[in-house]
Amino acid sequence: MSARLTRRTAVTGALGSVIAAMNGWKAFAEEASEIPWSYPIAWPGRALGDGFVIRHGFACENTWYHPGWFHTAEDWYTEGRETGGAGVYAVGAGEVVFVGSDYPGRVVIVKHHEGLFSMYGHLEYEVPVREGQKVRRGDRLGAVYYRTDGITPSHLHFEVRNFLIRDDVNGGNPQHGVRCGFNCAPGPGYWPINAPEHPVDLGWRNPLHSLHLIATAPTAETVIVAEFVGSALELWTDPGDHERAELVQTLQVAPGERLGWLKTATRAADRHDTSALAYRLWYKVETERGERGWVQTARPSMRESGSDGRPSMVELALIPEITAG
Ligand SMILES: [Zn+2]
Repeated sequence: MSARLTRRTAVTGALGSVIAAMNGWKAFAEEASEIPWSYPIAWPGRALGDGFVIRHGFACENTWYHPGWFHTAEDWYTEGRETGGAGVYAVGAGEVVFVGSDYPGRVVIVKHHEGLFSMYGHLEYEVPVREGQKVRRGDRLGAVYYRTDGITPSHLHFEVRNFLIRDDVNGGNPQHGVRCGFNCAPGPGYWPINAPEHPVDLGWRNPLHSLHLIATAPTAETVIVAEFVGSALELWTDPGDHERAELVQTLQVAPGERLGWLKTATRAADRHDTSALAYRLWYKVETERGERGWVQTARPSMRESGSDGRPSMVELALIPEITAG
């Protein structure tokens, strides 16, 4: 019941614009069985997303790779080790509608529903799925391509968007088709910061927000405390941007510790904000001792920043305990 209240509040708060953005997700969630979504990357035996960081978030600038452009994806990297070889998995059920390209590395695109696609870039050239194949959440789509070109370290480029081919993005008349050219399903992966449109106007969506909008109710019983959190985790009465939010207490935790997952709060996936400050993801959790509170799960980090000095990196403090398959 509380999860329903959370969703209703979110929809009302954004003056209904969320409804249009969520139509694809809602329809998808109604059709999805079991766990409707999970993160796109994992090491064997670990939860999806555990040990990874979003080095460059959605609508963030990567100044050392493509200055002056907004990233239309999330780049997932392993913390402190090579990312090449990490498993890549479908975030939800759907049909593979594209396998190909040289990004470098292959690109796989999954259609979950009308107007709802997920895209996985920089995969090993041996792809275990083919176009037309149905996949379930957690099905393996390949592995992260081991890059040796020196241009960027190995990573997964992960997009959520409402189009496969759009005429003015990656279709017959691309406006800024820098990497891709005509009728190229993967698309450019970036959009100029000084363009009149924000990437959401073209159909890209904030991936993290999109996944959590499928179901504001938790999709696992427990979450895992990420290593970077260290030993202290702040519990709040409400999500921290709420005017009533107050710090309840600071929990002593250990990395890898499990907490009960009670609720989620996020925001619309089609907002016009930019930089990692645009991310809003809070989980309400419960300890074994019964302490409850909200934790800031998506945290902007200045370890990467745009040319305007705002953060580009997003660290995930809590990882849903969901494995592939
Ligand atoms: Zn990328």
